[in-house]
Amino acid sequence: MANTPCAARSADKKGIFDMEADVVIAGTGVAGLYTALNLPEDTKIIMVTKAAVDENDSFLAQGGICVLKDPSDYNSYFEDTMKAGHYENNRKSVEIMIRSSPDIINDLMSLGVEFARGADGNLEYTKEGAHSKPRILFHEDITGKEITSHLLARVRTLKNVVIREHFTMVDIIEQNGRCVGIIGRSASGRYEAIYAKFTMLATGGVGGLYANTTNYRHLKGDSLAICKNHGIELENIDYVQIHPTTLYSKKKGRRFLISESVRGEGAKLYGADMKRFVDELLPRDLLTKEIEKQMKKDGKPYVWLSMVPLGADMIKTHFPNIYKRCLEEGYDATKECVPVVPAQHYFMGGIKVDSDSRTGMPGLYAAGETSCNGVHGRNRLASNSLLESLVFAKRAAQTITKQLPGAAHEYEPVEIDESRYADCAERYAEIIREETEKERKEHEQYNNEA
Ligand SMILES: Cc1cc2nc3c(=O)[nH]c(=O)nc-3n(C[C@H](O)[C@H](O)[C@H](O)COP(=O)(O)OP(=O)(O)OC[C@H]3O[C@@H](n4cnc5c(N)ncnc54)[C@H](O)[C@@H]3O)c2cc1C
Repeated sequence: MANTPCAARSADKKGIFDMEADVVIAGTGVAGLYTALNLPEDTKIIMVTKAAVDENDSFLAQGGICVLKDPSDYNSYFEDTMKAGHYENNRKSVEIMIRSSPDIINDLMSLGVEFARGADGNLEYTKEGAHSKPRILFHEDITGKEITSHLLARVRTLKNVVIREHFTMVDIIEQNGRCVGIIGRSASGRYEAIYAKFTMLATGGVGGLYANTTNYRHLKGDSLAICKNHGIELENIDYVQIHPTTLYSKKKGRRFLISESVRGEGAKLYGADMKRFVDELLPRDLLTKEIEKQMKKDGKPYVWLSMVPLGADMIKTHFPNIYKRCLEEGYDATKECVPVVPAQHYFMGGIKVDSDSRTGMPGLYAAGETSCNGVHGRNRLASNSLLESLVFAKRAAQTITKQLPGAAHEYEPVEIDESRYADCAERYAEIIREETEKERKEHEQYNNEA
């Protein structure tokens, strides 16, 4: 669905507010920020975000970020990722992610990111479900905040980057089969076009479409519906990960995650009879099924998680944020069990991209949770998503960088038909629901025939 070009945008009574950039980036999570940081410093970049700059899932990540800690772990890390993904992963993407991980971690540390270290000063590694070895770097239980706040601080020092908060992308601008920018609605309700030689979609997951989710509620997969409208291919959009353990609460709002690394460190699950009913380190999808079965058997909306075996010291030093939040809900995790329930958490599918994060439309890139390069297969291995977002955002930036010297602005100003976007939030949500259901049925049929 191409936007109608006009020879020159005529000034309406609200004035002309269109802007021009070399690269426009929708999203200020790790994928968006790292794209900006990996573009040359003379690139004019406009970043937009639907909410405040730090309101995104990247800031919420708790458990950690995986790394290939030494070459001898390669086969095991590869196999763990494939096995968790039910061997539906794209092998090339997995290889790229794992091989790139040491460079990414070194880069993060050079930006000032600190990961936990032992008494000897060496990096410490933790373990989560479906990892056969500890290979996850962490910063207490706020790894995402530690990483993303450093990326954001660095981006803020760049004179070539403008960040526009509370600016919702409602469309991309397609002309002659190429993406030449985006249309968005600013905080004041004004519609604006941002023309760019290259566009990056880094708009995160789809949790906002679910009643129970660990995600920010404004993350509703807008980019997916926009791409669908423009005939850009999506992939595996029914592959949604439910996290087995979020803190049960009667309060409304985002579900609070109890990181898988507490189970990696020894926390246990119990049914209403206070008996263990499952291997706590099963992959997320399998563990979720077992918890749901147990809840049904018990007739309760939760099962119990005991962190007590970790000891009060570890709970307070490695998981201070989780400890504090449980206390707020009335549970002292050093002494008693906390109630947990599965909730929507992550999106493995997305806008189909190649290993350099190119979508099916020239000029348009996608990275992070909104994209699908197949790295996670049908189920993501814990702590692979921050890493994936960073690795493939960097590759997109490198690919764009190669093309920038010869690239010219190739757009005609558009007249924005505001009525087209008046109820787009509901329409986009509906498109995603329909497409998800369609893809679910296709997968079901394929699996039945296989
Ligand atoms: C509670 C929690 C814990 C997690 N723990 C871990 C962990 O320990 N390890 C790990 O690897 N992963 C973890 N994850 C997953 C990981 O945090 C995310 O997959 C990753 O941060 C996604 O980054 P992103 O940049 O793609 O998206 P996000 O960080 O979600 O950013 C999306 C951005 O897009 C913007 N946006 C959305 N729609 C629009 C629009 N229409 N217009 C303009 N802007 C828009 C948003 O405002 C936001 O700025 C966790 C996730 C959650 C929710």
